[in-house]
Amino acid sequence: MSEMAVLSCRNLGKCYEEGPQSVEVLAGVELELLAGERVAIVGSSGSGKSTLLNLLGGLDNPTQGSVWLDGQDLSTLSEKERGLLRNRALGFVYQFHHLLPEFSALENVCMPLLIGRTPIPQAREMSAALLERVGLGHRLQHKPGELSGGERQRAAVARALVNNPACVLGDEPTGNLDEKTAATVFAQMLELNRAQGTSLVLVTHDRRLARRLDRVLELQQGKLRTLAPSDV
Ligand code: ADP
Ligand code: MG
Repeated sequence: MSEMAVLSCRNLGKCYEEGPQSVEVLAGVELELLAGERVAIVGSSGSGKSTLLNLLGGLDNPTQGSVWLDGQDLSTLSEKERGLLRNRALGFVYQFHHLLPEFSALENVCMPLLIGRTPIPQAREMSAALLERVGLGHRLQHKPGELSGGERQRAAVARALVNNPACVLGDEPTGNLDEKTAATVFAQMLELNRAQGTSLVLVTHDRRLARRLDRVLELQQGKLRTLAPSDV
């Protein structure tokens, strides 16, 4: 295992048991993500991209192999330890924002900091600064329902990055936006990522977006393979 790897997995496998049937979705996935590295994962619908991301994020358990995050084997941690590590080292952005509807944009972005025990005034200051950077300085007190789709995703990006995580995991974060808005949100996400030196694993079906990252990996028949730039 490389010293520099922020996130890696070895021989990762996942079978879903459906009654008497067993469906093998991942069968020996290998990945090593270095600090600051940004990779895209592409693959047809149902190829297991979300399953893989959930395993990498410690949200689900593999049926084979292991995931290492920030030097720790997730399978050796208790649920609580895993939660703490996740909060400290990872940020998540999904296709649908998953912001808490009853809280303002500012409060939503504060959440990971408060979970990590950052004092409230400092959390508010850091969150407001990040929301300003994604162009939402004038929307701090708005609730998710009062924001546009693009604004909600930008708030979700701010929430994912506010803890300065080692790595952000994105599952089609712009998949639900129109092309122009998606391009803007994507550009902002890359810019913040770069500024913070955060690694990124981005699941996307959009090859044009994928091409802008350091590496493009394709999930096919349960395995990841690197695509040559000319094949993306
Ligand atoms: P993708 O994100 O690439 O579209 P998913 O990871 O969501 O693919 O799903 C991969 C396969 O695993 C699909 O065939 C899906 O039906 C199956 N699957 C996903 N989650 C579950 C689950 N909780 N139980 C059983 N099968 C699942
Ligand atoms: Mg998916």
